[in-house]
Amino acid sequence: MKLLVLDLDGTLWDHEDASRLTPPYEFHGDYLVDSTGQELHLFPGVREFLEWARNRFFLSIASWNVEGKVRPILEGFGLWHYFIFPKIENHPNKADMIMRTLRELELLGYDVEGTIYVDDRDIHIEDVKTTVPSIRFIHMWEDVESFEELRKLLEKLG
Ligand SMILES: [Mg+2]
Repeated sequence: MKLLVLDLDGTLWDHEDASRLTPPYEFHGDYLVDSTGQELHLFPGVREFLEWARNRFFLSIASWNVEGKVRPILEGFGLWHYFIFPKIENHPNKADMIMRTLRELELLGYDVEGTIYVDDRDIHIEDVKTTVPSIRFIHMWEDVESFEELRKLLEKLG
């Protein structure tokens, strides 16, 4: 099985910096309102995509955010359980996050057959490519325009 690593801000949801939200959050289906009235919306098809991907990939997260602010968002939407060794850390070193997730999976004895990384921004990718062997990058909203298209592309990659 391959490892599929997802970014959060601008990839899974429309907010550009979920760490700026202020708990407590009020959840309404696929969006939330924070205590100051700011909203964060899951992009269409996220739930269906994760449900499809859960048995096909090791699903994880590499997110430059404050875990104390952002983990409750994933928990509140009921999405936290999809992820194994998710990294939500207050630094931009995604290569380091992904490498540690790979090592943790390997320490558990899993055979990881490759890594795919999905992010709405390509600023991290050069660093990631030189650090993580044979990683495949998918630029969200550039290479694919929806989570439905992302699923199709992943099916094609096999
Ligand atoms: Mg992003």
